Amino acid sequence: MKIKAAVLYEVNSPLVVETLDLDDPKEGEVLVRLASAGVCHSDYHVMKGEWKAPLPMVLGHEAAGVVEKIGPGVNLSKPGDHVILNFRPNCGWCRYCAVGRPVLCNGADTARWMMFDGTARLHKGNQDINHFARTASFAEYVVVPQSGAVPVREDMPLDKACLIGCSVMTGVGSVINTAKVEPGSSVMVIGCGGVGLNVIQGAVLAGAGRIIAVDMLENKLAYAREFGATDIIDAGQGDTAARVRDLTDGGVDYAFEAIGNSKTILQAYESTCPGGVTTVVGMAPEDDELTINALSLPRMEKTIKGTWYGSARPWVDLPKMVDLYMSGRLQVDSLVSRTYPLDDINIAYDALGKGEVARSILLYD
Ligand SMILES: [Zn+2]
Ligand SMILES: [Zn+2]
Repeated sequence: MKIKAAVLYEVNSPLVVETLDLDDPKEGEVLVRLASAGVCHSDYHVMKGEWKAPLPMVLGHEAAGVVEKIGPGVNLSKPGDHVILNFRPNCGWCRYCAVGRPVLCNGADTARWMMFDGTARLHKGNQDINHFARTASFAEYVVVPQSGAVPVREDMPLDKACLIGCSVMTGVGSVINTAKVEPGSSVMVIGCGGVGLNVIQGAVLAGAGRIIAVDMLENKLAYAREFGATDIIDAGQGDTAARVRDLTDGGVDYAFEAIGNSKTILQAYESTCPGGVTTVVGMAPEDDELTINALSLPRMEKTIKGTWYGSARPWVDLPKMVDLYMSGRLQVDSLVSRTYPLDDINIAYDALGKGEVARSILLYD
């Protein structure tokens, strides 16, 4: 079929919105007509060349829609199902899947920008187009492995559901699944964009006492307050870690870094108390290295951990996030600062680059 999609041909150049060919779903794959897709920072890393990926590629990994057609052997969804895309489609059987860490499974031993069988469904004439994260959601339609499309209840509005597929799951999951924050504990979050705001609301859900939000931008600190931060710190004014330690009698129990930068990861680490846990949520450029004081780890019994996709078990956790939203305990609507048609995707990324938005989304008709 012919579909409209946004293609990255060269780093540091605008995406090209054009018509591509999309093959039918093959064995174990589903075709999804998308309703919405989030404009996330991860795609931006590829656009700027900070993450290496083969081009041309259709980016996008945070999306929701309706299953239109299924390939042979599909038994996890059927046409008409409302689904949120899972950008870590998994195999179900490897040691990571078996122990409940499907995010660490690659699904198959093939490149992550192709289907599990190693071939592309997207083409332009004779040229194959790569599928970012086996998802490629900056397109009206996607073909994905069936484990990459998680059915959810139909009363969940599909225009908002996309954000549950990355930013909500990543932020809330980092607090609940990865750090396992206990009620009453003190939390700090560096970076109050789409993911950081979800760390804040995850901390609220977990019953954290003090929630300190750190950012350089006033508009993001205002969002942070709306999402439940109890204290805000403008990172442009003095030593952030020292101020956090002052505010919290020696440091927070849990620090979260939601930018993806070794300098702010170090700030987060230095803001924790002895025994504290630093969780790195932000995705740094590939060549960024972190240096910390080695003796501080044993002497202060500190922990640094990473979290990818909020350590999600997407088939359990995405429907769980939907339930929390539907019962009014998770904010998603207020994350959406702006909406754009696919044709305006480059404008949407300019706004993200300038830090103007919490999150913007693309709406497909
Ligand atoms: Zn994302
Ligand atoms: Zn697996």
